[in-house]
Amino acid sequence: MTAPITTHYEQFLHLLAGEPADPAGAGPVRARYGERPGPAGGTEPVVLSRDEWIRNQIDLTLALDRLLTSDDVVVSATPYELSFIGAEVDRVIEMVGASVISVGTSRTICPMPRLLQLIEHYGATALVCPPSFAAELTGLAVAQGRRPADSTIRSIIAVGEACSTERLDRIGAAWTAATSALYGTPSTPTVAVACEHGTLHVCDHWLRAEVHDGPRGELLLDGVPTGELVELDPDGRRCACGAAGPVLVPLGSLTAAVTGPGGPVSAVDVERIVFAERGLAPHFACDVRAGVFHVTCAVAGAEPVRDGAVQRSIRDRIRDAYGVDAEIAIVDVNDWSTATS
Ligand SMILES: [Zn+2]
Repeated sequence: MTAPITTHYEQFLHLLAGEPADPAGAGPVRARYGERPGPAGGTEPVVLSRDEWIRNQIDLTLALDRLLTSDDVVVSATPYELSFIGAEVDRVIEMVGASVISVGTSRTICPMPRLLQLIEHYGATALVCPPSFAAELTGLAVAQGRRPADSTIRSIIAVGEACSTERLDRIGAAWTAATSALYGTPSTPTVAVACEHGTLHVCDHWLRAEVHDGPRGELLLDGVPTGELVELDPDGRRCACGAAGPVLVPLGSLTAAVTGPGGPVSAVDVERIVFAERGLAPHFACDVRAGVFHVTCAVAGAEPVRDGAVQRSIRDRIRDAYGVDAEIAIVDVNDWSTATS
């Protein structure tokens, strides 16, 4: 059933592209309400029109159709309340023909221990979740005496947080799973999807992505600033797949970046350096205080890092690469939730 749905969607996109957005002059039909962080703190409303909502779903369906089959049982631990991504992922998994276990991220009805039971009981094969969620799930599984590498999970799709390839690889290695990522904003849940090389390409047949003043800067979508720091390669030359779509590298929120001598430095840049270090668990937390990155990472057993040499080495490499300061704490993986809460 997968192929016909893909074909229908491609035809549907073609039809949408040929139609005026506002055929009767009555304005676009509103379909879905969400909220996003406001510029002065707090939140502000965001409403998707029916066309936008459908276009987002179609692009995500075409992307996930390459990663999932109708045999997959997919756990979706993505945000539902006042956001678009949770509902979108559910619909898309159904369109691909796979089955879905929606657990959300609130951890009230389905806390992580219950989720591990569900994965085992139903032989879940794919996990769609933020990378920090996947890292924490890995730690809990190990703490419970499970071996994530022996689980039925074969695919992990990271959503909702910028994450370096290096860290994503660490998560995939723990579960012996293939990894992939999707990129969206609180206003546009599907901005870029991965090609067969795993590179994120902007869905530019309906969305115009720009960065002013160079490859790295604030992402503008259809001219509107998003508050998101990205690197954008408009011609897609970074990827060998030959797809025309611009290549996008998410770098997190603009406010979480630090200005270095060479321009903005993000937590994803820091992640790349941190995860060059062998032996670290896939956990990573980073915040910025007074222009300094404060990084917490984790290791199984604190003995190897007790003398502080690893911390100093990471700090020095971050300074050498980007000219910015970082404080590095490495905690025992079993102490992760208390160390970062
Ligand atoms: Zn590509």
